[in-house]
Amino acid sequence: MEGLIMNYPLTTNTILEYGNSVYHHKKIITYLPNGTRHEYSFGDMYKRCKQLANALTQKFGISKGDMVGTFAWNHGAHVELYYGISGIGAVCHTINIRLSGNQIEYIINNSEDKVIFVDATLVPLLEKIAPRLETVEHYVLINAPEDFKTTLPNTIHYEELIAEQSESFDWPELNENDACAMCYTSGTTGLPKGALYSHRSTFLHAFALMAPNAANIGNTDIVLLIVPQFHVMAWGFPYLCLLAGATMVMPSSNLNPDAIIRMLQAEKITKANGVPTIWLGVYHAMKMNPPKEKLALQEYLVGGSALPKSLIEGFEKDFGIKGTHAWGMTETSPLGTVSRLQTKHGDLPESEKLVVRAKQGTAIPGVEIRIVNEDGTLAPNDGKTMGELQIKGAWVISSYFKTNNQESFTADGWFKTGDVCTIDTDGFMEIKDRTKDLIKSGGEWISSVALESALMAHPKIKEAAVIAIPDEKWVEKPLATLVLVNKEDKVSADELIEFLSRDFVKYQIPKDYYYLDEVPKTSVGKFDKKEIRRLFAEGKLI
Ligand code: ADP
Repeated sequence: MEGLIMNYPLTTNTILEYGNSVYHHKKIITYLPNGTRHEYSFGDMYKRCKQLANALTQKFGISKGDMVGTFAWNHGAHVELYYGISGIGAVCHTINIRLSGNQIEYIINNSEDKVIFVDATLVPLLEKIAPRLETVEHYVLINAPEDFKTTLPNTIHYEELIAEQSESFDWPELNENDACAMCYTSGTTGLPKGALYSHRSTFLHAFALMAPNAANIGNTDIVLLIVPQFHVMAWGFPYLCLLAGATMVMPSSNLNPDAIIRMLQAEKITKANGVPTIWLGVYHAMKMNPPKEKLALQEYLVGGSALPKSLIEGFEKDFGIKGTHAWGMTETSPLGTVSRLQTKHGDLPESEKLVVRAKQGTAIPGVEIRIVNEDGTLAPNDGKTMGELQIKGAWVISSYFKTNNQESFTADGWFKTGDVCTIDTDGFMEIKDRTKDLIKSGGEWISSVALESALMAHPKIKEAAVIAIPDEKWVEKPLATLVLVNKEDKVSADELIEFLSRDFVKYQIPKDYYYLDEVPKTSVGKFDKKEIRRLFAEGKLI
């Protein structure tokens, strides 16, 4: 017998309508690339979404299932694109501006974008590849001055496009299982692959994210969305903020530590998201030049790569700001796990609480995780046994876009993440490595993530990335690349070996240390180990 409950569509339109009806007065604030501040309300944004919907359908003939690309930083207009494109049943394909020209060309042709909305400051990147884009019929320029010159064909300015449109538009009836957005993986492990999100998955993910055990965001929060909208939909925050009624602050390209600190201060930000590299930069800038007044920032949510224990500790001790560790992937929308202390941890000494918080955490409601041995059998949740992490849930992909990647899924319907981790008896997951980054020395596994985290706890070290290099005796051994807080302040290999010997046994400790001005980063700000391996192979590490 079916329940007698309305069939209420879980769509992005439902999110938008809710945000407009309950929180129309709430603000979206943007710091544009030229540094100017723009502010308007959810209600203003709502009207512009409807103008955009009219333009897309009438002017460009976009209909259900069509792909519409965005090539833009985080700002109000990009939020309008999220809702306006998905609202008519088309798919909002957010293109990662930091990928290589070849990768961008590949994903635009692969997704078959018909129209691309592009920030004026990013136009030069697209101009280079535009002649090879097979399906794009129109380019819409965002924030371009009137006399803007470009070689892109068929262009129109965004403001001009929507100015002539009516503010009334009836959203079509949508099936909540229809696609609403798409994001490609950043290609760290090969060609980018498309994750195609549904209205339902987007709604449920945002809903789950709001909860106190997840991102913990409500209508008194002012949120700085540092994670780019072109990277896994800014972790769903543009949806979450409308549901939660939280003020949104969008930094566009103002992402250097000083600019972030200025926004934290000026807007009295209470919550923010971002990858560890961003927060490492902010922390070191605040140490060098401590803010005169305590920041309003209560909590920053970190994922994308491991949040070092030393950073959680430093931010909290020095500035009273809490770092919360989360894990996710493009394929999981992205949020899968969050690490928050529970009642049972209340009596633990601070150092042990820190160990729990530095883990990637427990599954949030709506997803399940497990670990599996190499032979496919289930590994125990004992906090010691390492296995491949697998996940299933309401916002985990069931397939890649246009690709039959059966090897990414198990016969019983779980997604294989390629991450190697442990899960303890309380269900806290801890990432040890990506399968391809694990170091196998003399038959024993060494976690590069654990070494990096430990090295970054050294007061003179800002960043550390560890890779495996070939070794005659042990087959592989670890090599560490380091960035110093002060360039002149070199640390000897002996001192580092001694420092690491507190937490690691001899065979796990790197003997080779190389100093870099900056660790090479991927398009989404992670340590680019492929690049470090190349530098090593070409003898360019000194
Ligand atoms: P890509 O797969 O292209 O690097 P994603 O952003 O989808 O792009 O990356 C997902 C991967 O990032 C995960 O599989 C995991 O290896 C890593 N990752 C994400 N969050 C964390 C975290 N908190 N700690 C360690 N690794 C993480």
